[in-house]
Amino acid sequence: MSIQENYNKIKKQLPENVELVAVSKTHPVSAIQEVYELGQRVFGENKVQELMEKFPLLPKDIQWHLIGHLQTNKVKYIAEFIDTIQSVDSEKLIIEINKESGKYDRKIKVLLQVKIAEEDSKFGLEINEAKELFQQYLSGEFPNVEITGLMGMATFTDDKNQVKSEFLTLKKVFDELNQLTTLETLSMGMSDDFPIAIECGANSVRVGSAIFGNRNYTI
Ligand SMILES: *Cc1c(COP(=O)(O)O)cnc(C)c1O
Repeated sequence: MSIQENYNKIKKQLPENVELVAVSKTHPVSAIQEVYELGQRVFGENKVQELMEKFPLLPKDIQWHLIGHLQTNKVKYIAEFIDTIQSVDSEKLIIEINKESGKYDRKIKVLLQVKIAEEDSKFGLEINEAKELFQQYLSGEFPNVEITGLMGMATFTDDKNQVKSEFLTLKKVFDELNQLTTLETLSMGMSDDFPIAIECGANSVRVGSAIFGNRNYTI
């Protein structure tokens, strides 16, 4: 299927209140432009270097989301233009984002990435760490950052019940924090599991290969 067919198929499966982040990592600028022309404005990349190569070549009204692990020393390269950093996984990182964001007199939107998967390899805050960081935020510690929600990735498994229970765990944390101040975004679900994520309450999904095809990198 073509990118256009893929894109339309995914869009049809998403309820109106669910945001689509088109994950374009490893795919060329031409493919991103194609999806842009179909109306998509929110794109996700996981590497700062790659994002910086693509950013100048694409329309300025794209809302770029960083979705991969971010090293603190790289925040400065994206602070001026990044819309949302979905992968905040440490206090050190949010402190750095707050600092760099301040230099441009803006408030960068971030999601706290919470570890819900079984595998050790996944980055993310433990649930109690996320709650603590959120309390610090509420007490005014990071004035140049806006925490707009939570992001999580389920275990890579065929066991749908496990995936579901991990997503529901994050939904519960989301509901809890949402009582303290209104949160907009619960980002869960990728190409293989976004329908389950939506069932579990996701209102933002990050879909890559189901739109762009398998990953093979050339700019
Ligand atoms: C690559 C990636 C995605 C998209 O994965 P697909 O399976 O290609 O849809 C979503 N979220 C994160 C954090 C990613 O790194």
